[in-house]
Amino acid sequence: MARCIIIGGGHAGAQACISLRKEGWTDEIVLISDEHSLPYHRPPLSKNYLLGQVDEKGLLIRPEQAYQKDNITLKLRTRVARIEPALQSVVLQNGERLSYEHLLLCTGSRARRITCSGNELSNIFYIKTLKDIEQLAARLSTNKQRIVMVGGGYIGLETAAVLNKMGHQITLLEQAPRLLARVTAPFISEFYQQLHQQHGVEVHTNTQVLAFTGEQNVTGVRCKALTQSDTAEQYFNADLVIVGIGAEINTELAEQAGLLVEQNGIVVNELCQTTDKNIYAAGDCTIGIEHHSGIATRIESVPNALAQAKTAAATICGKHQAVTSVPWFWSDQYDCKIQIAGLNHGYDNTVLRQHSSSSFSLWYLKQGRIIAADCINTAKDFMAAKKIIDKKISLPIDVIGNTDIDLIKQLSGRSQAI
Ligand SMILES: Cc1cc2nc3c(=O)[nH]c(=O)nc-3n(C[C@H](O)[C@H](O)[C@H](O)COP(=O)(O)OP(=O)(O)OC[C@H]3O[C@@H](n4cnc5c(N)ncnc54)[C@H](O)[C@@H]3O)c2cc1C
Repeated sequence: MARCIIIGGGHAGAQACISLRKEGWTDEIVLISDEHSLPYHRPPLSKNYLLGQVDEKGLLIRPEQAYQKDNITLKLRTRVARIEPALQSVVLQNGERLSYEHLLLCTGSRARRITCSGNELSNIFYIKTLKDIEQLAARLSTNKQRIVMVGGGYIGLETAAVLNKMGHQITLLEQAPRLLARVTAPFISEFYQQLHQQHGVEVHTNTQVLAFTGEQNVTGVRCKALTQSDTAEQYFNADLVIVGIGAEINTELAEQAGLLVEQNGIVVNELCQTTDKNIYAAGDCTIGIEHHSGIATRIESVPNALAQAKTAAATICGKHQAVTSVPWFWSDQYDCKIQIAGLNHGYDNTVLRQHSSSSFSLWYLKQGRIIAADCINTAKDFMAAKKIIDKKISLPIDVIGNTDIDLIKQLSGRSQAI
């Protein structure tokens, strides 16, 4: 009997199990994950799970019986130590060897660790796994605590919003000149900075962490300002610190197996095939040419992990179903939901479509073509943006910005721009 091995029990790995069966793979499937839990939804970790609105069972992507029903062999708490491509086998950390017909890498990423002095003190936390949140939750008291959040990306901001809601005092430190600098336009950064400040979060941009202080527990954070006008050192008291400074991609197995890895991602084609004909990859660990932009990119989002897992499973089953969906992502902070359609790489113009102060969308254009939109509290604009980007529909700037015009209605009958 042939065997398909999936390494990684995140969104991509869990979806691959479902899709392989759906696409007709009747032979053995083994899902290997080094985490303790069955595959679970990661986004709620920094949102309603941390807030206590969802329990561990509610996080699970599928209950255990669903894997049994699909005849999936689950190997949890199990780490793959290496791949032997020539032998078509993987070696587990306990020395066990498992052969495969097809191997799917869904190894995702891990939280990037901060390297400054004092980083080994206790009460410094990361937000990536269920275990991370359990450890953090165990140290959160019901009293108001002084929490320093290092990192003003989506995960840092979501976590800050939840902890603020729980009554803690939050100081948010960001090294870049603005929040979300890597992923969004200054207008959106400014909106989120104001949103957090209105809720009482102290936000410091242009601020680099130099060291954590304390004997055993962290008690403070020493920082320096990165602006030329202000070079003074700053010190923030902290009962605990949370670090959200991005992810490191788990490409070590792929590199060791001799697969092509570039820009921190396992290189895949549109069918999720790697440079080894029996090995595929899906999710955060991959880099590939994104269908709409033509740009080689790594996309860290649940929709991408699901889409690639479906494609990889179809490829394994001999079908050709390239990933062509528009990339999208969402984030929840306070009562604001941002939904992002497309990739804004290389944009040269933006257009604002403002319904109200808390409901608007910012559209990104490149050489006159709409390539992405950040939609805040406007699901309708998000739906329209996905369609416009997918179909490459051309819309005049004054139409996009005019909220009296229904974009969805505008789309019917419009032809493709290219
Ligand atoms: C707190 C948080 C909030 C997020 N919020 C959002 C959101 O709102 N919207 C959104 O679209 N995305 C969000 N994301 C991103 C999203 O969760 C990821 O894009 C998605 O989880 C990627 O899935 P994956 O399966 O590719 O990788 P991962 O989820 O990283 O899973 C990879 C798994 O492989 C395991 N593994 C790695 N190496 C080995 C090995 N050698 N042996 C065995 N197992 C191994 C890892 O431990 C891990 O369990 C969030 C992420 C986090 C951390």
